[in-house]
Amino acid sequence: MTRYAEVIGDPVGHSKSPLIHMFWLRKLELTGDYRICPVVPDALADYFAARRRDADWLGCNVTIPHKIAAMAFIDSASPLARLIGATNTVVRNADGGLKGGNTDATGFAAPLGAQHYTSVTMIGAGGAARAVLAGLMNRRIGPITILNRDVAKAAALLREFGLHGQALPLDAPAPPAQLLINASALGMQGQAVLPDMMGRVADGGTVYDLVYAPLNTPLLIAARARGLTVIDGLAMLIGQAAEAFALFYGAPAPRQNDAELRELLIA
Ligand code: NAP
Repeated sequence: MTRYAEVIGDPVGHSKSPLIHMFWLRKLELTGDYRICPVVPDALADYFAARRRDADWLGCNVTIPHKIAAMAFIDSASPLARLIGATNTVVRNADGGLKGGNTDATGFAAPLGAQHYTSVTMIGAGGAARAVLAGLMNRRIGPITILNRDVAKAAALLREFGLHGQALPLDAPAPPAQLLINASALGMQGQAVLPDMMGRVADGGTVYDLVYAPLNTPLLIAARARGLTVIDGLAMLIGQAAEAFALFYGAPAPRQNDAELRELLIA
């Protein structure tokens, strides 16, 4: 039988993970498969019980709404998964135990390179925002401002991660930051519009939008028009998948083909 990994979620049909992993498997001419597996919340325990018995199963990516719930069905968690409180990648260890990791944090941080940001503003305080903060933990960054609809949630996040900064409502005046990150659902297809944020980013700054559907968000369009550096949601999506790919198939993802992969994902 063919060794396989898969993505689980509910709904999960929209996931781009199969396209990405199958692209890399083909490029490396590796034998293996990557599938989509819809799992409703009530079926999560049965899912992991069944996969533990399946010798061909290499592991899974975990997406909405299971990232937190899946922590209850693994035997160990990486330090990042523990810090974030959620797993997006579960693999089988050599001893057969299931280990949960979180590749969202490193996937987020990689496109920032070695750049030092003296001020950061992040929009959002949900699961993706937790991965962003974990990804920023080991970098030299200045104070961080979190803008969120639920301000108490944003303040709790700052405390939990031991970060210096402030939590404000979305429409509050905030000083222009060198790095502005949208880690909220605002601007995503089918979600509310993100208010204009151009006053919150400094000249010469960087705007990073985690939203990848659409890829060219109004936030990034406005940032490009101002001549700011932009990082889109595919950068993180591909980065987090690359780390998971290496864990599943034991080979580094062929990142030299990123331009071709991006074209495939945008098509
Ligand atoms: P989540 O846990 O549900 O959090 C959603 C966030 O958006 C919260 O901060 C929430 O504010 C805010 N929000 C939602 N609807 C809102 C509205 N109508 N008005 C104001 N604020 C609203 O979701 P998530 O997992 O963090 O995902 C957030 C985004 O990141 C999504 O677009 C997702 O696709 C993207 N993402 C991208 C990648 C990637 O690889 N590029 C990876 C992960 C996630 P409250 O706290 O006030 O509810």
